[in-house]
Amino acid sequence: MERVVSVEEVRNALARPRLEGRTIGLVPTMGALHEGHLSLVRASLDQTDVTVASAFVNPTQFAPGEDFERYPRQPDADAAALEAEGVDVVFEPTVEVMYPAGSETKVDPGPIAAKWCGAGRPGHFAGVATVVTKLLNIVRPDVAFFGEKDYQQLKVIERVAADLDSGARIVGCPIVREPGGLAMSSRNRYLSEAERSAAGVLYRALAAASEAAASGETDAAALSAGMCGLIAAQAGVALEYAVVVDASTLEEVAVIDRACRALVAAQVGGARLIDNVAIASGG
Ligand code: AMP
Repeated sequence: MERVVSVEEVRNALARPRLEGRTIGLVPTMGALHEGHLSLVRASLDQTDVTVASAFVNPTQFAPGEDFERYPRQPDADAAALEAEGVDVVFEPTVEVMYPAGSETKVDPGPIAAKWCGAGRPGHFAGVATVVTKLLNIVRPDVAFFGEKDYQQLKVIERVAADLDSGARIVGCPIVREPGGLAMSSRNRYLSEAERSAAGVLYRALAAASEAAASGETDAAALSAGMCGLIAAQAGVALEYAVVVDASTLEEVAVIDRACRALVAAQVGGARLIDNVAIASGG
């Protein structure tokens, strides 16, 4: 496995496989890897010939006052985990590599980025769209893998990759959860034991909404109210939003008459947590 820092090193590492017609998979991450990230790596190893993982804590997707400085960083442990999986290239750029002096261009992902996490974190998705566009331009993968854990992010990236003709196929991978249901996240390590247990309400609320829909409930407001009620009753969890949206447009729906998604975001101790589940239509 090659560990590389510069754009030129990435291009050099991929020149030969590209010439030989081997397919390239990209797994972008912010490091501090867990089983969720590794599931994307395994999907790439399965579906492409050469896997590139990137690890970069992207400053432009953090607002002032968010956790950029304290975000966990463990490059050597991450590289060891990626090597054990069989990854070919790890791209670990510095901030100066990704945003050299004078760099100014930002990617504006449009209305799909305005709601939900976009409303709570102004500028976040422009930062995500910009860094992912840069990574797609640097690596030029055939396929890029993202987790459904960050569902709105996945939809934003699908939009941006299509609109900007990236040429990469964007693949969404299922959420990997802790045994109790909590979605794995690098931010879970901010949680105390008590907070981790309180955070379990997020998945319980989502699972209840999904089960209610499967049992025939088609009123989205009733599903949202059920989730809000469960989460509000849990001490130590400050709800940001719990909604049922169209799974493609992320617009709120009134009736579950198509593929939908329940989305939640909440603050638990020092961690802002998000999670989601599919809501099937048709009972
Ligand atoms: P991050 O390092 O948090 O920016 O995440 C990098 C990629 O891993 C993103 O595409 C995430 O959606 C994905 N990811 C993070 N947590 C999980 C999880 N629990 N299950 C599946 N994918 C995940």
